Amino acid sequence: MESQRVAVIIEDDTDIRDLLHAVLQQSGFEVHASPNGSEGVEAVRRHNPAVVTLDLGLPDIDGFEVIRQLRQFSDAYIVMLTARAEELDTLMGLEAGADDYVTKPFRPRELRARISAMLRRPRTTAEPVAGQGVPGAAVPAQVPAMVPSAEEGVYRHNGLVLDSGTRSTEIGGRQIALTRTEFDLLQALLSGGRRVRTKPDLVRRLRGEEYDTGSYISDADERTIEVHVGNLRRKLGDDSRAPRWLETVRGVGYRLAPEQG
Ligand code: CA
Repeated sequence: MESQRVAVIIEDDTDIRDLLHAVLQQSGFEVHASPNGSEGVEAVRRHNPAVVTLDLGLPDIDGFEVIRQLRQFSDAYIVMLTARAEELDTLMGLEAGADDYVTKPFRPRELRARISAMLRRPRTTAEPVAGQGVPGAAVPAQVPAMVPSAEEGVYRHNGLVLDSGTRSTEIGGRQIALTRTEFDLLQALLSGGRRVRTKPDLVRRLRGEEYDTGSYISDADERTIEVHVGNLRRKLGDDSRAPRWLETVRGVGYRLAPEQG
């Protein structure tokens, strides 16, 4: 059971917590607020929110550990709140599995924009269970070489199968647990084929913008894409120097690697 309209706030500063509470409530969320990491993890377990806002500097466990614990069981959209000076922390948080961040002091409008962009994206339906196998499932003896095609929303490329209907990804019959951000990026690249997807293009995609609407995209937004692609490669077991799936086009963006015979 999950609710599109439940949010959990993990924040030890009372003023910021109250502000976040007001902003999220105005956006129509049922809000649960926790003053520290361990209570926050429990709140996410209990309420299964669509959105988590997370302060990285917490009194008990550090924010990165909170993200790692949440990613064991939750595919909530995790937005970190970071101080402007903490760029390295932001990158580490994204590597640990957070989706996005806003810097403090944040403008309520900015947070609302991030969250409404997230709500435009579809929700993962397959539970991201670590090490999940499908007992008794028929695993094809061999995955035929296929060009990426969008037949019924199923993409296949070099042994990888992504099903946008069930929002699941597998390689040789083995399920790969991806966050929704990683899934959306992978789908964007599979659907683009050998056409290069620029980083701003991918930022827009994650914001739920179908095409260039002229919204501002910062260097930090582009670095966020680089970190998510790095995470994706690690989970897929892809090698950036000899890619099976994600090829870097230096200084521009990414595209699908060539089909291997
Ligand atoms: Ca704090």
